[in-house]
Amino acid sequence: MRSSKTRPLLIIMSQSDSIPVLAIVVPCYNEQEVLPLTNPELLATLDRLATAGKISPKSFILYVNDGSRDATWEIIERLTEEFPGRVAGLDLAANVGHQKALLAGLEKGAEEADLTVSIDADLQDDTAAIDRMVDQALEGADIVYGIRQSRATDTWFKRNTALAFYRLMKRLGVKSEYNHADFRLMSRRAVEELMRYGEVNLFLRGIVPLIGYRQGRVYYDRKERQAGESKYPLKKMLAFAVDGITSFSVKPVRMVFFMGIIFMLVALGIGIYVAIRHLTGHTTVGWTSLVLSVWFCSGVILLGLGIVGEYIGKIYTEVKHRPRYNPSRYLRRPHP
Ligand code: UDP
Ligand code: MG
Repeated sequence: MRSSKTRPLLIIMSQSDSIPVLAIVVPCYNEQEVLPLTNPELLATLDRLATAGKISPKSFILYVNDGSRDATWEIIERLTEEFPGRVAGLDLAANVGHQKALLAGLEKGAEEADLTVSIDADLQDDTAAIDRMVDQALEGADIVYGIRQSRATDTWFKRNTALAFYRLMKRLGVKSEYNHADFRLMSRRAVEELMRYGEVNLFLRGIVPLIGYRQGRVYYDRKERQAGESKYPLKKMLAFAVDGITSFSVKPVRMVFFMGIIFMLVALGIGIYVAIRHLTGHTTVGWTSLVLSVWFCSGVILLGLGIVGEYIGKIYTEVKHRPRYNPSRYLRRPHP
C-alpha cells in the first residue's frame, strides 16, 4: 500500500556500512542563561561517543531558535563559529512552540544525520542516557524513549499534574509512553515517517508510538533546570494537555453523547413523576427544582458545546494547512 516500502531497507544497509552520524536537536526559547552550560555538556557527550567509535566525528548539535526575544540566537551564532561543523543553528522566523520547533529541528537534522536525539535546552534530562540510547540504536532500534524514573526535583504540583495527565491519556485510549517527555532517539527513517504526519496540532508523544519499528526504552532520573526558568507556565501546560487529548481521542465527544442520553432518561423520569403528581391532584410544582434543573441542564449543554467546539476548532486549524514553521536561516560551518 505504501510507496515507501523499499526505502527503509536501503537505509539499514547504509547504516551498517559506516558509523552513524548523530544530531542532537535542542529547541531553544529564551534560553540565553542555560545555553553556555548546555553546550559543553552536549559536546562532551558527542566526544565520548565518537571516541568509543559509536558515532561518527561528523556528529553535531543542532540548536533550533524558536523565535526567542533574548540573545539566544546570537549565542547560537557564536557557537557555530567557535565549533565549526560540530554546532549548527536553525533560526525560526517566529515562535511556534516547543513541539513544532522540535519537529523543524528533527527534519533538518535528519537531512544529514542517521540518528537524532531530541533534548531540552535546560538539560533536565540526563545526557548519560544518550549513550545508552545510541547503544540500542546500534543494535537495531529505530526509536528509543527516555523515561523518567524519578521526578524528585520537580515541584509537587508539576509531578502530580503530569502523572494525572499520563493516566488520563491512557484511559482515553491514547497510546503514549508513561513518564516520557520529548527526550528520545529516532533513526532517519523514523523521522521521515514522522514527517508524513501532516497535522498542525502537534503532540509528538502521541504520534511517535504510531510510527512503529523497533522501539526501546532507557530510564534516567530527571534533574533540576540548570538556569533560567520554565518556558511552560500553567496556561501553556493546560493547552498542551488539551491538545494531546483532543488530537488523539474522540472519547470526550462520545461522552457528551452518552450524557445526552442519560439526561433524556432523567427528563423522562421527571415527566412521569410530574404526570403522576398532576393526576393525583398535587399540582404545586416546586420553584426550586425548576430553577435547579434549568441551571444544571444549561451548564451541561454549554459544557457539551465547548467540547464539540474544541474539536471543530481543531478541524478549522487543520484544514487551513498552514505551514507549521518558517525556518529562516541555517548555520553550519564545514568541519575544519
Ligand atoms: N521551548 C521552545 N518553544 C517554546 C517553549 C519552550 O522551544 O515556545 C523549549 C525550551 O527552550 C526548552 C524546552 O522547550 O528547551 C522545554 O521547555 P521547559 O524546559 O521550559 O519546560 P519544562 O521542563 O518546564 O516542562
Ligand atoms: Mg525543562
